[in-house]
Amino acid sequence: MRRSSGRHWPSRSPWPRPTCRRASVPRRRSARRSSGVTERRIDLHPCGQTCGRGGDGRPPADRRTLRVTSAYDTSWLVEEDQVSPTTPSGEARGPVATLRRIAFLMERQREETRRIEAFRNAARTILPLPEEEVRQRVEAGTLTELSGIGPSTAAVITDAANGVVPERLVELEKTAGPLATGGEELRARLRGDLHSHSDWSDGGSPLEEMAMTAMELGHDYLVLTDHSPRLRVANGLSPERLTRQLGVVEAVNEHLDGAFTLLKGIEVDILDDGSLDQTPEMLDRLDLRVASVHSKLKMDAAPMTKRMLGAVRNPHTNVLGHCTGRLVTGNRGTRGQSQFDAKAVFGACAEKGVAVEINSRPERRDPPTKLLELARDLGCLFSIDSDAHAPGQLDMLDFGAARATEAGIDPDRIVNTWERDRLLEWASARL
Ligand SMILES: [Zn+2]
Ligand SMILES: [Zn+2]
Repeated sequence: MRRSSGRHWPSRSPWPRPTCRRASVPRRRSARRSSGVTERRIDLHPCGQTCGRGGDGRPPADRRTLRVTSAYDTSWLVEEDQVSPTTPSGEARGPVATLRRIAFLMERQREETRRIEAFRNAARTILPLPEEEVRQRVEAGTLTELSGIGPSTAAVITDAANGVVPERLVELEKTAGPLATGGEELRARLRGDLHSHSDWSDGGSPLEEMAMTAMELGHDYLVLTDHSPRLRVANGLSPERLTRQLGVVEAVNEHLDGAFTLLKGIEVDILDDGSLDQTPEMLDRLDLRVASVHSKLKMDAAPMTKRMLGAVRNPHTNVLGHCTGRLVTGNRGTRGQSQFDAKAVFGACAEKGVAVEINSRPERRDPPTKLLELARDLGCLFSIDSDAHAPGQLDMLDFGAARATEAGIDPDRIVNTWERDRLLEWASARL
């Protein structure tokens, strides 16, 4: 059976090297799956330096943007010895891998972002340092002199550098099993994720980090769907910023082995009148578009229905995101569901081939079960999305898969069980 879940840390997952060694390390292009564990080796180099890719010496698409975007202002070359925090037999691996694994496991448990950031920042700090310097600082006890490293992250780095799996990681690994039960089979059939955010809008990590984590989870694709301009609170992307982002996505993909693709997307706001909050020209340039309501959620049912129908009928719309907008739990409080004629809206989705999103975030659980069953009975397509705002949240697909299984939805009606080319064909069919 094809496996694409994050139960096991891949034995050779992609991992950034601390120094840019592109000149001496040949590009390797291979990807294979075996024994139930995804293995990929990639050469990802969004460092903003002239890398001579393709042998023509051209710099990456947008050097300045790449510099600003990348958390790691160095190369992301993959080396076998720089991968998972523990070997299959449980021995410790490198400090960066350990810090990153801790952050991932904390995120999927929805721990507080600020605490998680400490581990990501520490990884970022030591990544560019030569191994020898890290070793010397471990021995001299001077890690905390580096900005971004505090006592607890220094302890983790020290353990990892000394070949010890930190207690913190040992504890977290106990939580590494499935986040939900009942949807395992469907989860294993999901090939990607259509809804994710980076720090270009309101996500917490660079798009490269999101892409790498998606690869580690065994995805074939991830659609990057940062917010649209009018969602200012979420730092929505203007056409100019989106244009720059597309250049970065292209540069990232050029450094991948082709077995994984970061797809160009947007979570575009459905405006009050049902139009979409991005220019048609920009929407045309994307691979896939999720359309969602984020404002005036308490609008009366009649205008809300009209608004949503406007979006669903728009040929640019592929996925109707978190359709009721409800929040059922979590630190943002709760929020009731928007009122609209669900039969009319889902009927239009079925007619136009727009997928109804099953938003996996536990605080959303959207659509509610009754509406999910209605959409099922009306013949809709679905997508099971993480709506991840941090790398570890990409693993939340477990929740959506469990709900879809419970609702008895045929996997072939879930568009992210499809191969990339079938997905892309569907997403451009109405343009
Ligand atoms: Zn949203
Ligand atoms: Zn979103």
